[in-house]
Amino acid sequence: MADRYFSEKAIAGETVLLEAAEAHHLMHVMRAKAGDLVVVFDGSGSECQARVERLGRSTVELAVLSRDAVDRELPLALTVGVALPKGDRQKWLVEKLTELGVGRLVPLETKRGVAQPIQSALDRLTRSVVEASKQCGRNRLMQLDAGQSASSFFSAAAPSPEELCWLAHPGGNRIADEIALAQSRRNVRRIVLAVGPEGGFTDEEVALAADLGWQRIDLGPRILRIETAAIALAAICGQFG
Ligand code: SAH
Repeated sequence: MADRYFSEKAIAGETVLLEAAEAHHLMHVMRAKAGDLVVVFDGSGSECQARVERLGRSTVELAVLSRDAVDRELPLALTVGVALPKGDRQKWLVEKLTELGVGRLVPLETKRGVAQPIQSALDRLTRSVVEASKQCGRNRLMQLDAGQSASSFFSAAAPSPEELCWLAHPGGNRIADEIALAQSRRNVRRIVLAVGPEGGFTDEEVALAADLGWQRIDLGPRILRIETAAIALAAICGQFG
């Protein structure tokens, strides 16, 4: 895949100005020169072929040569609510979920959660979404929400044959059985997943989700770390549709 750059501003005219980290990447990491061809996208679903026109001190001007709608999204809407792990594991989680085509990531505030989704962490993670999208070819960015309580996340979903709502919890239903059931119905349009903190969801959180119609899903006899559970589930659910 050609070198891809992200424009925070919508690409509307015949030129694009890359700034900050994107300009730095093009000039100092890739050592681009005037005349080089690159791809630039703005997260709206298309990608543009572009030529490097002018290298400034901290900006790069590109000339847009063509614009194509290129869809690399999943055929269904996949939302993942997750109690964020600590430190670098957050970045890794966000990177992999972006690559797997997750549409929306909601950091969950849970009773036993340890990492609070504060704004500076979310800003850093937004940068990880951009970096992963550049690398994997996505032309739409995974939406990264502000932190939300687990209870409001559970309440906002609407479990139905079209909208699967799965809470990862040891001792739940076997995932293979739930997949077989969902596939036999052939009408899944949305999947909403919830993954808990290292301490697990509390009995109250699990009961609330169950009352609201969420299905508990077991991922096997080993206890997975938060990011392993989220990535495994997203990879499986990405195959629906
Ligand atoms: N200490 C908890 C597990 C926490 S693991 C316990 O023993 O129950 C962190 C999260 O990953 C869990 O809340 C759950 O959402 C998910 N998870 C990890 N392993 C899982 C498994 N085998 N089945 C289902 N969910 C799992």
